[in-house]
Amino acid sequence: MENTPGLSIRHLCPRCMGETLDKSLYCAACAVVYKQYQSEEGLSIIDFLNSKDTVFDYSQLKSSGEKPVFHYKSKILIPFLKMKGLKVLDAGAREGPLGWLLAKDNYLVGLDICPSQSLGDGDNMLNKGYRELLIADANRIPIAGGELDLVIATDILEHNLQPEQLLKEFRRVLKKGGKVITTVPNMVSYNNRLSIVLGSGVGLELHKILQGKSPVHPIAGMRYPDQDLHVRFFSLKSLEKMFLQEGFTIRKTFGYDPVLSRIPCMDLLLKNWCNLCGLIAEK
Ligand SMILES: [Zn+2]
Repeated sequence: MENTPGLSIRHLCPRCMGETLDKSLYCAACAVVYKQYQSEEGLSIIDFLNSKDTVFDYSQLKSSGEKPVFHYKSKILIPFLKMKGLKVLDAGAREGPLGWLLAKDNYLVGLDICPSQSLGDGDNMLNKGYRELLIADANRIPIAGGELDLVIATDILEHNLQPEQLLKEFRRVLKKGGKVITTVPNMVSYNNRLSIVLGSGVGLELHKILQGKSPVHPIAGMRYPDQDLHVRFFSLKSLEKMFLQEGFTIRKTFGYDPVLSRIPCMDLLLKNWCNLCGLIAEK
């Protein structure tokens, strides 16, 4: 795990966004010290929310001990697997189902607003090679400007009322030439299009037919707009437009789909029809 000797990142106080913090994590302007914890696995955890009413107990961290598994969406990180010695932020990292693939040769930092999502019992981030976990709001990333080479932002933009603010933050923390890789649910996937044409509002997941299951979810409703905590909706075009408006250059667009991605090139040819759409953008 120690293939990135000497690498570190400079932290910023997320309250005032002005003070670069030294090792003591003290912001003189805000008169606040952020708490830091160290796991046995070498993960450094900083709680930038310093929430007084937090019920999470950082002294009871326990790894599941299981090897991380290749998540079905991991395919999107293939363009970055040869990267070495770079600084990577996994924004909205949860338990790290994708980011761990880049942990061995890079300085990988996770960020999540909820410690129990990343560090709770069972499958968690502790055994995945992350070097730091920042408990913080991605709208105010506690990292100094121009620090990072890559931001991974899979399935988080649709959870934020102002994803434009997230993109501003990604742009701030990236070096010139640094990249963002993102995916969002595709509002105009074939499942959603068919559901709308039928006028039914039922959730369709046609790939379930391949598993011998019913493709209809009458209770859950349409998969993406009805899903809990999804507050913004995108097509590939609207996603691209938002990145362009925030000053990024688009390097690649793609789709990901449980059916179409099994057939060579189909998720590139029919990317507007896939369940997920995504892109790689450059600062
Ligand atoms: Zn401050």
